[in-house]
Formats: sequence, C-alpha cells, structure tokens
Amino acid sequence: MRGALLARRDEIAAARISGNDDSVRVFNFSAGPAQLPLPVLEQAASELTSWGGSGMSVLEVSHRGADFVACAADAEATLRRLLSIPKNYRVLFLQGGASAQFAGIPLNLTAPGDTVAYLNTGQWSAKAIKQAGAYELDVVVPADEAASSYTATPEPGSFTVPEGARYLHYTPNETIGGVEFDYVPDSGGVPLVADFSSTILSRPIDVSRYGLIYAGAQKNMGPSGLAVIIVREDLLGRARPVTPTVLDYQKMADADSMLNTPPTFAIYLLGLIGHWIEDDGGLEAMAERNRAKAELLYGFIDSSDFYANPVQKRSRSWMNVPFTLADPALDADFLAGAQAAGLTNLKGHRSVGGMRASIYNAMPIEGVRALIDYMTDFAARA
Ligand SMILES: *Cc1c(COP(=O)(O)O)cnc(C)c1O
Repeated sequence: MRGALLARRDEIAAARISGNDDSVRVFNFSAGPAQLPLPVLEQAASELTSWGGSGMSVLEVSHRGADFVACAADAEATLRRLLSIPKNYRVLFLQGGASAQFAGIPLNLTAPGDTVAYLNTGQWSAKAIKQAGAYELDVVVPADEAASSYTATPEPGSFTVPEGARYLHYTPNETIGGVEFDYVPDSGGVPLVADFSSTILSRPIDVSRYGLIYAGAQKNMGPSGLAVIIVREDLLGRARPVTPTVLDYQKMADADSMLNTPPTFAIYLLGLIGHWIEDDGGLEAMAERNRAKAELLYGFIDSSDFYANPVQKRSRSWMNVPFTLADPALDADFLAGAQAAGLTNLKGHRSVGGMRASIYNAMPIEGVRALIDYMTDFAARA
C-alpha cells in the first residue's frame, strides 16, 4: 500500500487539492520556506510523538544520543549519494541560514587585505557582496548585472577573475529575479564558491568543480534555519582567529557539526527529503521533472500577450518564475482569485512586484497545470 502511494504521489497530491476535509492541501508557490513533499510531511507527522518506536519525538532526544547521531549520519550519507560528493569534501550542517555564510565564507577563506571576487546577478549576490565588504577585503565584482536590472547572467568568458583572488563567489540561481546560470563560471583557477540555496537538489551538480557550496534548506531541502555546506578539505583550517566557533568550518567539521546543539528537526527532515528524492529516481529524475515544469510555464507565458517574464531566455530559472500582468492594476484580483483556486503565495517579492511562481522539487506538474489553467481563465476574463 505504501509503495503504491509513493508511486502515485503526484496524483494523490492533486487529488488532495479537490478534497474538502481538514487535510486539504493547496499548491503553494512560496519562494521559501516552500512547499514540502506531502509524503515527507505525512511521515514526520506519523512519527512525531513516537520516533522509531522510542516513545519520544525526534524533537525531544539528545543530539548526542545514538539514534540522533545515526539520523544525522544518514542525512549526510543520503546527500552524498544524491550529489555524488567526492571523498575529499566535508558536509557541514550549520545554523543561521545561508545568510550567516555571507560572513562565514570571508571569515574562513581570507585574511585582511586579500582580494575576493563576486559575480553580481541579483539581490542575493548583492547581499553577499555587501557582507564581504565588512572584512577588510578588496572585493572585486568582475561582472555586474545591475545594469540589466538583474534579468541576465554574464556571457561566459566575458569576465576575468583577478589573479590571486581567494575565491570567486556566485549565485547559481537568484531566487528573487528568477535568473539562473546555465553554465558553471570559469573561476580562473581560484576556488569557486556558490550559494545554491534555491537550486540545490533540483538536478545533478558536479561538486568537484567547486571549492565550496552552501545552501539554506528552506527552498528545496527542508525547514529554515539549517544551512548545508559542502567544502573541499584543503579549504579548511584557514579561519581568521576572530571567527565565531560555530562558523569555523574546521572546528565544525572536527565536531561533526555538533560543537553545539544542531537544528535536529531540520536535519531529520533533510534526511526524509533526501530519501523521498532517491525513491523518486534521484536527481536525474528531478531534473527531468523540473525542466518539464519550467518549460511548460515559460512556454505558456511566452505564448500569451497578457503575461510576461523579463529574463533573458537562456538564464531563466527552473525554480522561480517571476511574471507580470499586462495591467498591474489587476494584480490584486489575480492574487485573490488564485488564492480561492488553491494556488497560494504567488505575489512577487516586495522589491520587484508582479508575481512569482516558485516550482521547487515538491511542486508536482499538476500544480503548474492548475496555475496555467487559472492564468488562462483570468486573462480571458480580463
Ligand atoms: C533564501 C536565500 C538566501 C537566504 O537564506 P536565509 O536562510 O534566509 O539566510 C540566500 N541566498 C539565496 C540564493 C536564497 O534563495
């Protein structure tokens, strides 16, 4: 029975939408914290009061107990399998979200006076750049898409990383602008550092091309607060003496991320989500599904005179799809009607306006179809 349920989860998720009992689920297009896979939520709910038959919740057990240590090790092992993480990389589970790493990266990888390079393709890149500015660094921005109003990624080969830079930082997917690199930037031989918050686990990544990958969990991997860091071992052990212990990658690696109490529930959920992805065919299968969802939605938007997406075609995000209506005066009506149809959190980021549909792994293609049906209807009535 469980197997059949898993195999048909998309249909089940869609069927739930039309139910009218207390367990009704909507298609939630939130950019983050985002919709999670229903089977994961159901499993977590079913074992919330007695985890593994222990008579205790996973929320109530020591992080140093054998059960939780095994749970965290399993979450890490699952991530390692999914992403084919090479042996010479460490996986860390840290707190403070992705934003804490805007500070953690310069503190761990530089000394005062060093040069660092950042590509600027949107608001998250810009925040990382601003934070780096606090650490007595020469912060160089070899490519800046502010001029395109963050609607494009730089052309491959159009920028040069300064010699001697400690690293090149970029944001593979800009969650707010819906702008995504369709290539891995050439870092000119220096370690490549990437904020994968809103695209990790959406498709395979060649981890070996990176010095450091980091991601907040709440877009595609679980609840907020947890950040996953995947760091090549030779980059460890260089933290500045002033680095807070809980941000020191070497110290955290030595302590298996348990120098202090880790976000236990978030790590547990990360593990469940990893297993859900594996059961569904792994990252190749996720990539196929995500590509199909994105193509469907962009194809519809491009074929319409009423809706528009401003992003350069090759840089369009698979995960976050911003769009505008021909008449912004209709935005409020559009959102109210969507909400009534069980399509929630479509309002664009407060800084850009319009709409944004986030279609992470947990969004079934039925959700995208329902959105397109609604958009078709709304445009016909407008
Ligand atoms: C959401 C997001 C962040 C910030 O994550 P927090 O967990 O809130 O710190 C950083 N970078 C990107 C690309 C994001 O999408």
